Amino acid sequence: MKPTASDKSPTTGSGRFSFPTVSEYDVVIVGGGSAGLSAALVLGRSCRQVLVCSSGPPRNSTSPGVHSFFTRDGIKPADLLRLGHEQLAAYPTVTTREACVTRIEVKEVGFCITMQPDRGGPPVTVSARRVLLATGVTDDLPPIEGMRELWGMGVLHCPYCHGWEVRDKPLAVYAQGKTALGLGLLISRWSKDVVVCTNGPSGIKEKGLQRLARHGVVVREDKIAHLEGRSTGELRHIVFENGEKLARHALFLHTQQRQRSNLAEETGCRLLTNGAVWTNSKAQTSIKGIYAAGDTTPAPQQAIIAAAEGSLAAIAINESLTREECR
Ligand SMILES: Cc1cc2nc3c(=O)[nH]c(=O)nc-3n(C[C@H](O)[C@H](O)[C@H](O)COP(=O)(O)OP(=O)(O)OC[C@H]3O[C@@H](n4cnc5c(N)ncnc54)[C@H](O)[C@@H]3O)c2cc1C
Repeated sequence: MKPTASDKSPTTGSGRFSFPTVSEYDVVIVGGGSAGLSAALVLGRSCRQVLVCSSGPPRNSTSPGVHSFFTRDGIKPADLLRLGHEQLAAYPTVTTREACVTRIEVKEVGFCITMQPDRGGPPVTVSARRVLLATGVTDDLPPIEGMRELWGMGVLHCPYCHGWEVRDKPLAVYAQGKTALGLGLLISRWSKDVVVCTNGPSGIKEKGLQRLARHGVVVREDKIAHLEGRSTGELRHIVFENGEKLARHALFLHTQQRQRSNLAEETGCRLLTNGAVWTNSKAQTSIKGIYAAGDTTPAPQQAIIAAAEGSLAAIAINESLTREECR
């Protein structure tokens, strides 16, 4: 369904902006990361009128390169998205806006979506037949000096993304209990010199400790004072409260995560205990007509998986619109 001319608002007084105040779209996509832009491509090519609203950087913005992304290995995160935008520009069916979506109202038919343009001005409301949440997650890092500063270079979340760059180097894992065991063993596939730093009692069972030892992984329970890094962002030392320094090239950890946006929760979408947005096999949330893709859902978190999920959600959305139209 195309936006009707009468739905388009006039430009603002200055005449500089032509942001619509009311429009009807087939689909509004919230979030312009890998998931959102990939979904926009599939939906735009399906002759659907799509609005992509995105505000803020993608989750991996502090990383020097996106790895393990087929044909794009090592591309800068901003360049990956720039390419996505460049390719979307060929489709008049797709509109992209820098705006933060603040509310999704479920109507009898479709949805009203309110957003705040990044450049200022009054909030804007549009309507859509379907909504795709591609809003990603936020990583909460342990409150240890240096974690945030080195995040994405010396402090890493995923060996599949960044393990190769630090292979065979002295590495550390920050974790406790089962995670310390699992992540310690995993990282030991990239380097023979791995120390699991548990920052207090390890919480690892005896059998686990034996398993780690069998694979040459050392466990240190000393409390961490701070991390020391290089100006380039790499880790130099883990400094313990007892004053000792452990030279390491990088530290891996699983972060605590929360949804980047409260929209799913506020709209009443079911969340799983870990905070991820529940979806069925067709990427639809517990609210009919609202779909979710990318890190916001429970699937493994990688840019290429987010893009694939965006594509799957787009196909499911287009097919549900087709069913509605072709009775
Ligand atoms: C440090 C780091 C390095 C990484 N390296 C790699 C790597 O090398 N390879 C790899 O495959 N993966 C990597 N990842 C994982 C990858 O970043 C994510 O899997 C991917 O970004 C998920 O894409 P997404 O579209 O779901 O979310 P995001 O990329 O986070 O995009 C979501 C977008 O939605 C916007 N948004 C949120 N709420 C709203 C709202 N209310 N209104 C408008 N916009 C909103 C956000 O600001 C953001 O721009 C890395 C992650 C981190 C943290």
